Amino acid sequence: MAGRLAAQVESAHDENVSEASSDTKVLSLVRRGAPLASSETQLRTLAGARVTDRMGQDAKFERSLTSAGRSPLIPGKLENFQINLGRLCNMTCRHCHVDAGPDRTGEMMNRETVDACLAALDRTDCHTVDITGGAPELNPHFRDLVDECVRRGKHVIDRCNLTVLLLPKYRDLPEWLGERGVEIVCSLPHVRRSGTDAQRGTGTYERSIEALRMLNTAGYGGGDSRRVLTFVTNPIGAFLAPEQAATEREWKAEFANRYEVRFDRLIALNNMPISRFLEWLVESGNLESYLKRLVASFNPATIDGLMCRNTISVSWDGRVFDCDFNQMLDLESAPQGRFGHIRDFDAAAFASRRIVTARHCFGCTAGCGSSCKGATA
Ligand code: SF4
Ligand code: SF4
Repeated sequence: MAGRLAAQVESAHDENVSEASSDTKVLSLVRRGAPLASSETQLRTLAGARVTDRMGQDAKFERSLTSAGRSPLIPGKLENFQINLGRLCNMTCRHCHVDAGPDRTGEMMNRETVDACLAALDRTDCHTVDITGGAPELNPHFRDLVDECVRRGKHVIDRCNLTVLLLPKYRDLPEWLGERGVEIVCSLPHVRRSGTDAQRGTGTYERSIEALRMLNTAGYGGGDSRRVLTFVTNPIGAFLAPEQAATEREWKAEFANRYEVRFDRLIALNNMPISRFLEWLVESGNLESYLKRLVASFNPATIDGLMCRNTISVSWDGRVFDCDFNQMLDLESAPQGRFGHIRDFDAAAFASRRIVTARHCFGCTAGCGSSCKGATA
């Protein structure tokens, strides 16, 4: 079984992945053997930055929560089941918080874990299944997973990088996903070519526009509630996410006028100071100033909408996390008692946990807030 999956993954990599990544100079941290490939090093780097809070004390997320009367951070109603199908991606974007890339063939969710996720999903009242990666479409079980979730009446989200839709095996996906009512949340760093290509690799912008046209042709982006096309954008550089509503208006006008491309809504995220974005912050000398900006912008009104409060996040190898960011830092969920693989999921224990936080959490609570669904305040 493991051998067959490995062969399938290798095949996806050889046939489809290398083509679209050839012009990208960035390599994953893992492939370069970079120190920040280690989650411990990332956490140490974040904790070691000299940043103070409004009281002039060493900035600690837990202290900010306490001052807002919200410590410990506890979950609300579980609504979203997020499944990370792996780290394999056809791109290697500079800001990637997953450290994904064409070389990450070894980290792909296998069928047994997909089935364990579905069994766990059945033990929750989650209304939404949020499928992410890497490029989740590259996982050989992607379509089966979508079908199983749709059969269960779930709202399904595919977090799509757009360019993957141009690879030969995936060109039918816009229509295929549309037939199943899957929402496509597509990431695009900037409304202009230069900003997008700087972050994702030369030629990405052109390919993204082509993919968007395919999605529009398949009925996405035109106001159909079964073919919702959502844009997600994040700043280029050490800034907070732009104001969401104004950015949506601006982008809708730009894409309509320049390319006759339509989308339904836009969500704006802060860049999280982890993985390859953390590396960029360190190398560009922006780490302390960015963290100071996040800490100074701490907004208690964002706390209720934090994704860790209504989400379970499962990694490619079946471990359970409070959110995608904690997953990348190997900060596993810590409910009362032992909690390991998703096959052992205990909904009551998960509901009674305390959410694991650290300094990166300032990224979610700065300004208007930032979650997988956009601004939280
Ligand atoms: S940001 Fe998205 S598209 Fe870019 S490398 Fe990471 S997972 Fe792939
Ligand atoms: S990173 Fe954000 S979503 Fe995750 S635990 Fe921290 S505050 Fe919650």
